[in-house]
Amino acid sequence: MDRQSSHLASLLEELSISVSDSSLMRMQRFKELLYDHNKRFNLTSIGEADYDTLHIVDSLITLVPGDMRTRASVIDIGCGAGFPGIPIKIVRSDIRLTLLDATQKKIDFIKTVIHDLQLGHCQAIHGRAELLGNDPQHREQYDVVLSRALADLPVLLEYMMPLVKPGGICIALKGKEDAADDTLLRLIEEFSGTLLKPYHCTLPGMQHEERTLLRIHKKEAIKDRYPRTEKQIRKGTPI
Ligand code: SAH
Repeated sequence: MDRQSSHLASLLEELSISVSDSSLMRMQRFKELLYDHNKRFNLTSIGEADYDTLHIVDSLITLVPGDMRTRASVIDIGCGAGFPGIPIKIVRSDIRLTLLDATQKKIDFIKTVIHDLQLGHCQAIHGRAELLGNDPQHREQYDVVLSRALADLPVLLEYMMPLVKPGGICIALKGKEDAADDTLLRLIEEFSGTLLKPYHCTLPGMQHEERTLLRIHKKEAIKDRYPRTEKQIRKGTPI
């Protein structure tokens, strides 16, 4: 294992996440592809020096609460350059992963990564979450819906909740998060969800970087009227 990989392995150890040498090599290859493409079009503003912590470790904390069963169908919405989906797929080759983004060039990059790293059961879709949520091929089809840095919670919930199966879970990666207020709890209820215990941590070696995983369980089928159109969603919450 080279120095770069052992640095990443030791950061992950602090979160009790163990990864194989071949996964660590794929993380390095993903890094090469990302920063090579980043020279031509903007994929990430996080520099190479912070890749291990702010991209890889940050993505993989999603695995800590153990919400993803073997061969789960998972969708990462607003995946951008592939976070958190690609690092998760590298570690959890068993899952069936869909990556979704509204920007074509980002999806083109993801397709290059999927091909280069030979990731099986992994597809990239160019599209919008609120449209997929009304498409029978995607509506309530996923065991797990993931998202990092896509939108504020009320909007994010309306993007995520229609895609998850009843009995499944939505996981939103957030920074330091205040306790959920009554309005948010009512909104979660409106989208047929219940808030589970959030998972909090700080990123290893970066004590000021606090993270919260908001975890929402879907109790039953969501009302037909959700998701609304993008314009309606942007106007405000439905309740
Ligand atoms: N998750 C990545 C990228 C965050 S930036 C990361 O954490 O690094 C937000 C991304 O969401 C952008 O790539 C943007 O193209 C995409 N996006 C914005 N609105 C969207 C929508 N409604 N549906 C799907 N993708 C969307």
